[in-house]
Amino acid sequence: LRLDGVPTLGEDQSFKGMLFLLQDVTAIRRLENMRSEFVANVSHELKTPVAAVKGFSETLLGGGVKDEETARSFLKIIYDESERLNRLISDILDLSKIESKRSPMDYAPIHLDYFCASIMDTIATVAKKKRITLHSDIPEELFVEADEDKLRQILINLLSNAVSYTPDGGKVELSVRDRQDAEGLEKIIFKVSDTGIGIPKKDQPRIFERFYRVDKARSRSSGGTGLGLSIVKHLVELHHGEISVESELGIGTTFTVELPMLQE
Ligand code: ADP
Repeated sequence: LRLDGVPTLGEDQSFKGMLFLLQDVTAIRRLENMRSEFVANVSHELKTPVAAVKGFSETLLGGGVKDEETARSFLKIIYDESERLNRLISDILDLSKIESKRSPMDYAPIHLDYFCASIMDTIATVAKKKRITLHSDIPEELFVEADEDKLRQILINLLSNAVSYTPDGGKVELSVRDRQDAEGLEKIIFKVSDTGIGIPKKDQPRIFERFYRVDKARSRSSGGTGLGLSIVKHLVELHHGEISVESELGIGTTFTVELPMLQE
């Protein structure tokens, strides 16, 4: 609690009394703490790849590496770490744009059949490398009113995770349905499911937090930034929708996104 006091004066400038203001600053403090924790996390996440780029390039420049194979493997590390920096910076910028509401919604009707087919095409190259079978189950002539770029980012982030966290030879599916909720509102339900490693029960409520990863090493090696799902959650909320997860270790995971078919 914060207490502020100011004297109140009469018309002739004589002292009349005191005005006290008692303010609950818990919410403000919490926000400040979250912000400084985020800055600390960001700095840490950026420092690791920068240190790798610096260290390996210093070694190469020092001329100590004589054989070409080792030199190439160092260059590959430098390249991969710069890619990671790139992804981190673009995710951080996306997140800050979304959170500061500098990203207005550009609603338009989206034909889900065509739209989802183009998204599956985008993901097909990565899936093929891991021999992952992609399925999609999208009814014809179904529309949703959404911001096309943001909806694309939601589905691509979920599908890329599904591919990343599924071992070679597994399956990833995108399905879309429409449904009326209890109040008679039309909803579009997207489900992204995989036959992957699954998420432990205790971690499920936390995976939408910024930089939260179940297995840091695994996320890093698959190129993750730890920001994908927090971006997805924000984007779903901007559409007045909801996201949930069901998962079983070693069996697979399903993310469900529910969006209103029409925006008010
Ligand atoms: P990352 O960049 O690490 O993938 P995300 O925010 O996208 O970050 O996801 C947070 C964490 O949730 C991941 O590190 C991973 O542990 C877990 N996760 C997300 N999607 C899946 C999935 N389909 N299967 C298993 N674990 C997942």
